[in-house]
Amino acid sequence: MSELKAHKPDLRDLSAMEVQDLMVRLGEKPYRARQILAWLYRRGAREISAMTDLSKELRRRLSEAASLFWYEPIKVEEAGDGTRKFLHQMADGALVESVLMPEEDHSTLCVSTQVGCRQGCRFCRTASLGFQRNLTPAEIMGQVLVARDLAEPDKPLTNLVFMGMGEPLDNLDFVCLALDNILGEYGLQMSQRKVTVSTVGRVDKLPEFARATTAALAVSLNAPNDELRSRLMPVNHRYGLDRLKEALMAYPLKPTRRITLEYVLLGGVNDQPEHAKQLMRFCHGLRCKVNLIAFNPFPKAEFRAPLPDEVAAFQNALVEHHITALVRRPRGADISAACGTLAARHHA
Ligand code: SF4
Repeated sequence: MSELKAHKPDLRDLSAMEVQDLMVRLGEKPYRARQILAWLYRRGAREISAMTDLSKELRRRLSEAASLFWYEPIKVEEAGDGTRKFLHQMADGALVESVLMPEEDHSTLCVSTQVGCRQGCRFCRTASLGFQRNLTPAEIMGQVLVARDLAEPDKPLTNLVFMGMGEPLDNLDFVCLALDNILGEYGLQMSQRKVTVSTVGRVDKLPEFARATTAALAVSLNAPNDELRSRLMPVNHRYGLDRLKEALMAYPLKPTRRITLEYVLLGGVNDQPEHAKQLMRFCHGLRCKVNLIAFNPFPKAEFRAPLPDEVAAFQNALVEHHITALVRRPRGADISAACGTLAARHHA
């Protein structure tokens, strides 16, 4: 938090304990913190002046000590399938996208954690932006609160996937602080089973992540052998598949939980029968399920989508070997909201 404390923090950059400390510093009773936290998360206050059960004087002093920003999208695009992509502008002008996907009776939000990304995965459009900066906890939480407000009433926001722009474990401290407020008693109280954080496989950060949060873990695998994975995902040069598997085997999972392996099928590249066999070997002994995602081509992409038959054959091969493998429906492809296509360009 030192990076944040140097400036006047956004109230949503603070943990529940830090909000309490702030109240004590302002000469207030600690219970005031609960009132403020309710405004921040349950009631979704957009500005400090809206906290009307605090005295005017306290609101004034609070405004001197901290800020509160609302990340209303500056642009909303809606796809034919109801998926909506939000473009958020941060206080410094940085642009970030999030994607709200309505399901039958709930909605899922794909959340961004960085402006750009430094991982350079070759099938991902965000990679072309390079890395600009980490998002703060308030900027991460801001996407969630906006989506909660904008979700259709009969499809409330219940699920989050940290699979938008950025590698969450490259921004571990801020992501975990946001997760505390997303899952916590004084925060949004979302279910830990319904909040999933996806990593390219920062093996070095996994133990710290497991200690810091109970959110579910997904790993963006995408290739079942080192030669191919290193070609697609530079992180594999540092943490090859043996090290990744070792780290996942050691990952402390509750008895009913599994790790999700995300696998983007790139036509003719990683979707052949031998790849399915290699993937089975990787899954052996691991409590996991596999999500298969057909690649969504974007302008200048160097890969093509897989053929439907190849997707089905790949899935069947896994299922026949008792590996849970689901094919994820591509969402919002017509507005570049699908997996790996977020680029936060403001083309109004
Ligand atoms: S797939 Fe994820 S980690 Fe890889 S470059 Fe894209 S945003 Fe970064």
